[in-house]
Amino acid sequence: MDHFLYKNGHLHAEDVPLRDIAASVGTPFYCYSSATLKRHFALFTEALSPLPHLVCFAVKANSNVAVLKLLGDLGAGMDVVSGGEYLRAKAAGVPGERIVFSGVGKTREEMGLALGGGVRQFNVESEPELEALSEVATTMGIEAPIALRLNPDVDAKTHDKISTGRKEDKFGIPIARASEIYARAAQLPGIRVVGIDMHIGSQLTDLAPFEAAYTKMADLTRQLRAEGHFIERLDLGGGLGIPYTRSNEAPPLPSDYGAMIHRVLGDLGCEIEIEPGRLIAGNAGLLVSQVIYRKAGDEREFLIIDAAMNDLMRPAMYAAHHDIVPVSEPAPGDDIAPVDIVGPVCESGDTFARQRDMPLLVAGDLVAFRSAGAYGAVMASEYNSRPLIPEVLVNEDQFAVIRPRPGFDEMIARDRIPDWM
Ligand SMILES: *Cc1c(COP(=O)(O)O)cnc(C)c1O
Repeated sequence: MDHFLYKNGHLHAEDVPLRDIAASVGTPFYCYSSATLKRHFALFTEALSPLPHLVCFAVKANSNVAVLKLLGDLGAGMDVVSGGEYLRAKAAGVPGERIVFSGVGKTREEMGLALGGGVRQFNVESEPELEALSEVATTMGIEAPIALRLNPDVDAKTHDKISTGRKEDKFGIPIARASEIYARAAQLPGIRVVGIDMHIGSQLTDLAPFEAAYTKMADLTRQLRAEGHFIERLDLGGGLGIPYTRSNEAPPLPSDYGAMIHRVLGDLGCEIEIEPGRLIAGNAGLLVSQVIYRKAGDEREFLIIDAAMNDLMRPAMYAAHHDIVPVSEPAPGDDIAPVDIVGPVCESGDTFARQRDMPLLVAGDLVAFRSAGAYGAVMASEYNSRPLIPEVLVNEDQFAVIRPRPGFDEMIARDRIPDWM
């Protein structure tokens, strides 16, 4: 459920008509709903409430500092995968003890940054990383709390580019080597083992792969405890999928996910950490764009809009589907016809939808892409020298620009012409 509904014939974000925001900030823009973000965060905290837990928002899904602050103020932790994300979480006022540092290639600089500013734990993904962290922490005279990210060799049955828990994926440490590497961690100065971490992929629409992975985690917890390690936290990663179409898919609910976690891991006395990104932010955001032209091709019609693949990369990158709806509500008897919805970028990949049934929209009409709050703005680029588009946050009947649209001058002024030219 989200808070983007038609009222009086116009699509609203909570109580604000999107066309009012468009008139004020121009198009295209991203628009997020505070109420939806809060609701999704609450679903996870409720689902885990019988167990000690921390819901860490995966910052890579949506890293706007206002979004992070909204969630952080509700008590969310943050899962970060770079120094930049760590600093964004801090800028949002999230204390270090609620920030988990994940990622397959942390540099020594990033380790030092997080150790200096405070961190809940590092999710370590390899032996060389463990050794490097030990050195950095020892030099700083600090102990680094760690979990090892184990690769359970479970197929998440999701898109290849976002599957991370198979042995051929680059992530984590093979579970068969857990014993050996935990033993090494226990010997290393500056390292304090606190738990186990896994993250098997994103946009999972079935609980079975999670359950397979968490069952391995439960067995491993008992084994590692028997080997003398202090396992007090289990980080289960993120990955719960969302419906990208209103019609058919129905991924598991956070409550089902929570019940399964309780069943599989509840008797271990561990604090549970989860790292959802997409489920919290995905359906809390829209991308709003305007039709530039309606063009008749030989075989089909094209709706050319002012948003492009550089603004929302998911369709070009993962062949992802987004529902695209008119901002003015179509009347029940209106004509519907298939169109290709495309952006202005000079690549055929800049196609958002092929032969999508839409009302007969014309130049100037507004459309909204649903489910664009996660992996939308964060993946944007300036390809074709299109400045990054603004982000807007709605709260009931108010809205605020939480990242303004840069001017062309700002974009161009970042380049430098060398002295010799
Ligand atoms: C991407 C990622 C997440 C979030 O995944 P979602 O599918 O957005 O829930 C969580 N943890 C790690 C380590 C990740 O890489």
